[in-house]
This record gives sequence, C-alpha cells and structure tokens, in this order.
Amino acid sequence: MPADRRTVRIGVIGAGWIGREHIRRLTDVVVGARVTAVTDIDAERAAEAARYPGAAVHPDGASLIASPDVDAVVVTSSGPSHAEHVLTAIATGKPVFCEKPLATTAADCLKIVEAERAHGRRLVQVGFMRRFDLGYRQMKEVIDAGRIGTPLMVHCAHRNASSAPAYTSDMAALDTAVHEIDVLRWLLADEIVSAQVILPRPTTKKPAHLVDPQFMLFETAKGVRVDLEVFVNCRYGYDIQCEAVGEDGLVRLPDPAAVGVRTAGAHSTAVLPDWTGRFADAFDTEFREWVAGLRAGHASTGPSAWDGYAATVITGAAVESRATGRVVTTDIPRRPDFYDAFAG
Ligand code: NAP
Repeated sequence: MPADRRTVRIGVIGAGWIGREHIRRLTDVVVGARVTAVTDIDAERAAEAARYPGAAVHPDGASLIASPDVDAVVVTSSGPSHAEHVLTAIATGKPVFCEKPLATTAADCLKIVEAERAHGRRLVQVGFMRRFDLGYRQMKEVIDAGRIGTPLMVHCAHRNASSAPAYTSDMAALDTAVHEIDVLRWLLADEIVSAQVILPRPTTKKPAHLVDPQFMLFETAKGVRVDLEVFVNCRYGYDIQCEAVGEDGLVRLPDPAAVGVRTAGAHSTAVLPDWTGRFADAFDTEFREWVAGLRAGHASTGPSAWDGYAATVITGAAVESRATGRVVTTDIPRRPDFYDAFAG
C-alpha cells in the first residue's frame, strides 16, 4: 500500500475535556486516522473515552507510547505532565502532537528541543490551533504578500464572558494570551523580545482573587509593538480581535460568520457566548493536516517544539512583569537552523 493510504494509529494520553474532543475529531472528522489506545490517570475516564473508537486502555503514558499498535501520540493530559510524555515519544521515535503548553518550564522545553534535534527529524507539533484558522491564514497571506507594507503595530483583544472559578491571574498569560503570542510570532515571522503587563481599573464583575482585565504590551525583534487586552469577565461574549497596521494599510481578523439581523430599529449580529465553537474548524484543519503529513511520511511543518519553547518563555515574562511591574526581556536565542527547514 502506498504510504499515503495507510491509517495512522493514534494513542491519546489524557482523556479530559480536550482529549475526548480530539478523540471524537480523530474518529469522526479526520480521514486516515484511528484512535487505538487511550490512557488517563483516572482509569474509568480512560475506559469511557476509549469505548467509542474501540481503543485499548493503557495503565500509563509509557505503556501506550511503547505499544506496537500506536504509530503516533497525542498528549492532552494536564500541562505539568507534557514534557515526560513528549520526551518518551521522541525516545521511541514516534511523532507526537502535544497540546499547549509544550512544557511548563523553559528548561523542560529546551530538553525536548535538544532531544528532537538529536533524533535528527521533526517529531513534535504543538497545539497552537490558531495557525489553522482561516481568518488568521488570510491575514498572513496579506502580510506576506506585502499588501499592508512593513508591519508597525498590532492591536489585539482576547475577551471571555466570564472566567471559571479555578482561573487564576497567571492564567491570563499562560492559558489565554499564549494563543496570541504564538499566532503573532507566526503572522509577523518575528520574535517577541519583551513583555510588559499594565493593570487598568479592575472590573467589579470578577472574582475577588483575580486581576482582570490585564493589558499586555509586547515588542518584537524588528520593533513591532503589540497591545493585547486580556479581559476574561467582559460579560458580553467570547470575542477575539486582531488588527495589524503597516506602512501602507491594515489587515483585520474577520469575526466569525453570523447573519445580520435588522429588527426593531436596530441592526445586529450575534457574538459567540464562549470559546468552544470559535476555533472548532481550526482544530479540525490542524488534525487533518497533521494526519495527512504523517500518512505522506512528511515531517511536521506545524508549530514546532521551538515555538513551544518560545511561547513558554514569553508567557513567563508576562507573568513576571505583572508581579514586578517591570518590562521583562525574553532573551530567546536565535532559532536553531534545524527548525528553519520546517518553518511554517
Ligand atoms: P482536563 O479536562 O483536566 O484533562 C486532563 C486529563 O489528563 C485529566 O483527566 C487528568 O487527570 C489527566 N492527566 C493528568 N496527568 C496525566 C498523566 N500523566 N497521564 C495521563 N493522564 C493524565 O484538561 P483539558 O481542558 O482537557 O486540557 C488538557 C490540556 O489541553 C492542557 O494542557 C490545556 O492547556 C490544553 N488545552 C488546549 C486548548 C487549546 O485551545 N489549544 C484548549 C483546552 C485545553 P486528573 O484530572 O486526575 O489530573
């Protein structure tokens, strides 16, 4: 059988919210993939998630990765466990898709980068799905074609209607802004060299423990300035905005398609209530392209272990800036040549 006709057998580590969502996607949406193995710390949760694709349940990540019935691994467990699973997959020579964050410390991310470079071929893709969103892809085409001229500034907003009880002030950078951080590095083909967090007047509509909103400022190596409003108790809905301004024009991320309604003297379009539907198509495309690449025997060109490392450094700088009130430089070294050939 030609390489591109085979079914990729996938093992999923972590059967929580997004693990189950990706199992459904790999089973029902993506052509050429089958979930053959599942594991979770909670064995019952793993068994329940494994039932629909008819997958084997493994006691832990190491046993799942070693299984001869697993060609590639998806890591959707909690962040602190990611590095161990990704390093084991690399040691076994199996491609691994890891949800963000790649690892919770920069040192662990670098261990992964070094292990992958020693392996000699890209095996790791990080789950930054915005790069697969049609709107962001159209923005990148416009910027890359030079239609707005040299980019100078980017204005972004990331708003949620309300935050979950477990959401902390650090998560504004680590879980929320991380998506803008990755997509901006990719859109601008530029590195973020500093982060600063400024605190506006707090909303009264937030839990007492939370700092919300937060205003984040980033500077890139080429001098582009980015402002990002993270406001996770904005009340009115889930709203992602991005506008890049260049010397000759600007390009703006489109809102999700929504019908316009004119009635009672007003013209309105709906705003999504939460984030779950906003990037559903992007998640589908992300996995379609990952699986298609595996079937064709290509190394991944999606977000790399280096991108995962950079994102962890930059989100860490934002957390530090909020704590100290200072501008924090990132000191990210030049991307190793190894990753240039696979740059998306
Ligand atoms: P979740 O519902 O808490 O699921 C994580 C699951 O992994 C839990 O069942 C957890 O068990 C289990 N687990 C923890 N350590 C494990 C290990 N070593 N081996 C096997 N299973 C383990 O969390 P989630 O919302 O699905 O998020 C999972 C990951 O996806 C996080 O890193 C998150 O940041 C990322 N994520 C990304 C996006 C995106 O937009 N790309 C969206 C959502 C989530 P216990 O509960 O018993 O610890």
